[in-house]
Amino acid sequence: MRLSRYFLPVLKENPAEAQIVSHRYMLRAGMIKQQAAGIYSWLPLGFKVLRRIEQIVHEEQIRAGHIPLLMPTLQPADLWRESGRYDDYGQEMLRIKDRQEREMLYGPTNEEMITDIFRSHVGSYKDLPLTLYHIQWKFRDEMRPRFGVMRGREFLMKDGYNFDLTKEDALHAYNRHLVSYLRTYERMGLQAIPMRADSGPIGGDDTHEFLVLAATGESEVFYDSAVTDIRLGKREIDYDDKAQCQAVMEEFTSLYARTDETHDAALFDAIPEERRKSARGIEVGQIFYFGTKYSEPMGANVVTPDGARVPVHMGSHGIGVSRLLGAIIEASHDDKGIIWPEGVTPFHVGIVNLKQGDAGTDSACEAIYGALKAKGLDPLYDDRDERAGAKFATMDLIGLPWRITVGPRGLAANKVELTSRRTGVSEEMSPEAAVARVV
Ligand code: ATP
Ligand code: MG
Ligand code: MG
Ligand code: MG
Repeated sequence: MRLSRYFLPVLKENPAEAQIVSHRYMLRAGMIKQQAAGIYSWLPLGFKVLRRIEQIVHEEQIRAGHIPLLMPTLQPADLWRESGRYDDYGQEMLRIKDRQEREMLYGPTNEEMITDIFRSHVGSYKDLPLTLYHIQWKFRDEMRPRFGVMRGREFLMKDGYNFDLTKEDALHAYNRHLVSYLRTYERMGLQAIPMRADSGPIGGDDTHEFLVLAATGESEVFYDSAVTDIRLGKREIDYDDKAQCQAVMEEFTSLYARTDETHDAALFDAIPEERRKSARGIEVGQIFYFGTKYSEPMGANVVTPDGARVPVHMGSHGIGVSRLLGAIIEASHDDKGIIWPEGVTPFHVGIVNLKQGDAGTDSACEAIYGALKAKGLDPLYDDRDERAGAKFATMDLIGLPWRITVGPRGLAANKVELTSRRTGVSEEMSPEAAVARVV
């Protein structure tokens, strides 16, 4: 992409309404525009990152054997009357009437609808196990929408639902989700720690939230610092292997890590003092096992091998896709702007032309731009007629992992400058070497 032809409405001033750094940088970098409290347009740069995050979520869900579909944003109220949640959900639910006066709602989550799909089409244990998921906009009329996309009213969520014959199988699905989530967050350059949590209005017995530690997080968390040393890394996972998924789950959840809702001071005090930590965290996901809470009242039954009809065991599993942009920026920035992890960056590399209009510099930039694209990379070429300082400030703000700076003085010695956004280290090298180094 050439910046002269892109739409990147960068703000010079700090927007007064932004209280935390991720919100400030997302507005300044022209990634989002607020349309109403907690409702945003995703401008091209923000949309690009959102799509990359979504793509990682899809890849890891499909790797775990989960199947994508798409349910609507609007749902009939009657479905929610079957589970009893239409009255329970309260003011967070946006209720709408259509022209026939039929009661509808903008879905805050989809347990009822997926259970309805299941009961319409599945009747035998032979069709299990089954896990279906989608990535779809949700609406929750939050009391205090704030911090930009972090607590929106309209927000993008991945929500997945498992259907299993037995509790044991459903707990395998739970573990599979836990492992796939760990991998998902790590690919985004994030450490999200599974913490024992409270199930809230979804209901159920087993639940973990995934928290990214950050001073601006809305949750209070307590943990043994040894949990921050564990990584999934590149280990091979066989998602059908119950024992392996269980072992990974235990490895990541046996040390103390809880949100304030389930915090137990006596257990916490038993941790050696130097490892006892309390901090703030951002909830970027949550997994639940809730057994037959929805299948029983809604009649989602299957026939067992012995011919009995039993309600299926279910769980639901969510990732805050749009909130993740905020969480990643909170975890990865400096005083000049965002520092995107390579896995989610909107462009792989920026090219800064220090002397736009100079034939030699222009053609060197064009050659680098073409070579990067030929390598399958997505470069952003700043070909505007702007001061070098302004170009550098924009590149620092939007946080691409690499910058290649091209000017007539360097080119005289066949040199360009390659700069890492994360370390700030610059190295001079030939244009070909710079292209080769960028990944
Ligand atoms: P919170 O405690 O922050 O209100 P939640 O526990 O109500 O979140 P869940 O029902 O667990 O949310 O939904 C799954 C995920 O969706 C959450 O872990 C979070 O990452 C994301 N999410 C929830 N509410 C919002 C929101 N208002 N804006 C953006 N993302 C959200
Ligand atoms: Mg909530
Ligand atoms: Mg929560
Ligand atoms: Mg939650």
